[in-house]
Amino acid sequence: MKSSAQPMLQAIVENFSEVEKGLPNQEAIEEANRCLYCYDAPCIQACPTGIDIPTFIKKIASGNLKGSAQTIMTSNPVGASCARVCPTEELCEGACVLNHSTKPIMIGDLQRYATDWAIQNEQVLFTKGKPNGKRVAIVGGGPAGLSAARELARFGYAVTIFEAEKEAGGLNTYGIVSFRLPQAISFWEVQQVKALDVEIKTNMRVGEDVMPSELLENYDAVVLAIGMSKVPNLGIEGEHLKGVYDAIDFVKQTKSEALTTEFVGKKVAVVGAGNTAIDGATCSIRLGAKNVKILYRRTSAEMTAYDFEYEFAKQDGVEFRWLTAPVRIVGNDKNEVTGIECIKMELKESEGDGRKKPVPIEGSEFLIKVDAVIKAIGQERYLSLINQFELKQDGGVVLIDQDTFQTSNPKVFACGDVVFGKGQGEAMVVTAAQQGKQTAYGIHAQLKKEAIETA
Ligand SMILES: Cc1cc2nc3c(=O)[nH]c(=O)nc-3n(C[C@H](O)[C@H](O)[C@H](O)COP(=O)(O)OP(=O)(O)OC[C@H]3O[C@@H](n4cnc5c(N)ncnc54)[C@H](O)[C@@H]3O)c2cc1C
Ligand code: SF4
Repeated sequence: MKSSAQPMLQAIVENFSEVEKGLPNQEAIEEANRCLYCYDAPCIQACPTGIDIPTFIKKIASGNLKGSAQTIMTSNPVGASCARVCPTEELCEGACVLNHSTKPIMIGDLQRYATDWAIQNEQVLFTKGKPNGKRVAIVGGGPAGLSAARELARFGYAVTIFEAEKEAGGLNTYGIVSFRLPQAISFWEVQQVKALDVEIKTNMRVGEDVMPSELLENYDAVVLAIGMSKVPNLGIEGEHLKGVYDAIDFVKQTKSEALTTEFVGKKVAVVGAGNTAIDGATCSIRLGAKNVKILYRRTSAEMTAYDFEYEFAKQDGVEFRWLTAPVRIVGNDKNEVTGIECIKMELKESEGDGRKKPVPIEGSEFLIKVDAVIKAIGQERYLSLINQFELKQDGGVVLIDQDTFQTSNPKVFACGDVVFGKGQGEAMVVTAAQQGKQTAYGIHAQLKKEAIETA
């Protein structure tokens, strides 16, 4: 007999398939032909990795899809993922000259069109450089680590990535929801790096399975590209209850484990209003939750989620409760979440940084009945590993020379989320990719200089 849960599960699986469909051939070519191929194109300046956008678009128009993918991936080693997850309206498309007349070129969609072709046709786009006898260890195989590895391998370095997870790719593999970024895209980018003979040692957590001292001893340079850690605790009563989740773990589960019907009919509160909160909320809806509320202690004007993420969440049916802060999570005698007590807030002028400060309104407490609470209030730092490397840091943000990406230890370089400072909006894949490249250039300059000095 067929279980009634089966059609439900089937619907959930479909909910997690990619939402945006790629451009059909004819539309892609027409869109490519709309580009003005501007001299000194502002779209290039607006791309953190400086992709030569008019050139890759022109190659699409002339049918040279491999060349187009190469142009993209040369500048951005995770250009296939970025085609899906970059806030293009704030970057390249926002800068397109056609904003002033008609509508901007669909740069993200065209980037996806070219890279999808390369993925579907199993293209290997780069070759490794002539071996130069130097070895570099990279800690973390996310966008920053992969990008550094790709460039270093092209310069002829023997590169080993140490990755704590079962698969490389970082948040592209485990953190950004499947319906925006399927794992297959991230795996192809990892494969492009492996094809340059970069060794990727997975299930290897530096600091536990291999010590920083070993890396410092055995390699000419070390790159720290470990990203950020877990979501911090809210610091309120009830966080131990069954049904309280860390948003990053929650999304990871939907990307790496079989989907279930466990969330069907549930009421969910998500605490926080960045992109991670939106991902936690939209995942809950797609898992079948009946009602999902995002609780934020400030207002929509202060939320850090991108506009397109906010719109996406609203379309999915996520509700927003502004000026609302959790006070305690309430449970039953089985230690299961049954509600979240909140308090209304008001914004008062702050004395210091100019940012308005949320202040509780006394006596305004109220209860929202929920079955699950998802915490999404930022990410902690891997302070213990940073300390094991004995690096200078500020609140867990590793301090670097902004040009070379060198840390306080001249042999250690750092890039990506591990150097992402507080109060800078949201971290981005494209920034991590660019910093990975710059780190490789910093290492190359340093090791070349040392080779000349010791010759
Ligand atoms: C839920 C969520 C949604 C996001 N959505 C977007 C988006 O839509 N668009 C966008 O541009 N950005 C988005 N971001 C931000 C983006 O994912 C990050 O800025 C980017 O992944 C940073 O790259 P990274 O390589 O520095 O770090 P990560 O991607 O975090 O990679 C770090 C890697 O290091 C590994 N590692 C950690 N510690 C160790 C250790 N001790 N030993 C070995 N390996 C270790 C980790 O397992 C991981 O693979 C999102 C982030 C989150 C959390
Ligand atoms: S600014 Fe717009 S029109 Fe000009 S090259 Fe870039 S994408 Fe094409």
